[in-house]
Amino acid sequence: MRYSEAKKRAISVLMEAGIEEAEVDSEYLLLNVTGLDKAGLLMKLFEEMPEEEEKAYDELIKRRSTHEPLQYIIGNQNFMGYTFLVTPDVLIPRFDTEILAELAGKRAYEAVLKIFKGSGECDLGIDNTEFRILDICTGSGCVPVSVGLDLYKKIRSKNIPTAISVTAADISEAAVEVAKKNYKLNLDEYMSDMSAFESTGTENNISGLEYRFVISDLFNNIEGKYHIITANPPYIVQKEIEDLMPEISEHEPRLALDGGADGMDFYRRIVKEAVDYLYPDGRLLMEFDDSQAEPVADMMKEAGFTEVEVHRDLAGLRRVIEGRFLG
Ligand code: GLN
Repeated sequence: MRYSEAKKRAISVLMEAGIEEAEVDSEYLLLNVTGLDKAGLLMKLFEEMPEEEEKAYDELIKRRSTHEPLQYIIGNQNFMGYTFLVTPDVLIPRFDTEILAELAGKRAYEAVLKIFKGSGECDLGIDNTEFRILDICTGSGCVPVSVGLDLYKKIRSKNIPTAISVTAADISEAAVEVAKKNYKLNLDEYMSDMSAFESTGTENNISGLEYRFVISDLFNNIEGKYHIITANPPYIVQKEIEDLMPEISEHEPRLALDGGADGMDFYRRIVKEAVDYLYPDGRLLMEFDDSQAEPVADMMKEAGFTEVEVHRDLAGLRRVIEGRFLG
């Protein structure tokens, strides 16, 4: 069978199974099986496909036809320009969550500049030499890995000597393992890209950048204070999980989705507890669903946060909330 025929057959199998992106997914999986890029595939489209490749392709198409997410089949997803390994133990990074990562990166950089310039406006930590970020409900680690590495690159390019410490925590041991791998993967990538690598540091850390991975039910195993805390907690109303696409409801971890009876279980706990883990002038940033904007904002104000602000995603929905904690 030619590549073109195999692809055509795959498209009809996926369409039959009700997969909306049948054409795109068929091509993705074909590229994955052949190891070709788009141009390479185009050149080969009318050549015979080796039988083994055809079998492997059929196998992947079969998996996709059961609504297993493409990313679990391929094994990764891009987020903020980085590649993240994904397994069924972690939520697949969403593009919407880039709003959270971008904002966290922006706030972190602004705060680092304040520390660096020694602005007397605020007290940003004990000795002001280490900038500390905490991400809870970390899952694949997409938020802390992208935010920490981006911040590190940015401040190093400006010769700002502040050290960065990032803690990524999740209640799931399996998720923490995935997050660790994702850090290693992207750190290695960064180091191999760098011409002048500062070779001090240990296996997982380079000079001025330290990552910790912790198994923790929210803050239970967290120590110390942080300048920025981020979270994309489970926030789906429990009863509504079944109504989501089967890709989500049948394949993604329930643990990462289920926000309890009203979807707000985790915000109640996080908002209350976060204040004990923030430095004065620290910030809490969380992702949520549009419908949760008001109650979460009220909760944050009540807990003592100021400058509580909601940010919208590309679809115009309220997606991220932030607040400043004066201490
Ligand atoms: N936004 C995710 C979804 O659409 C939910 C993520 C979460 O609960 N943290 O499924």
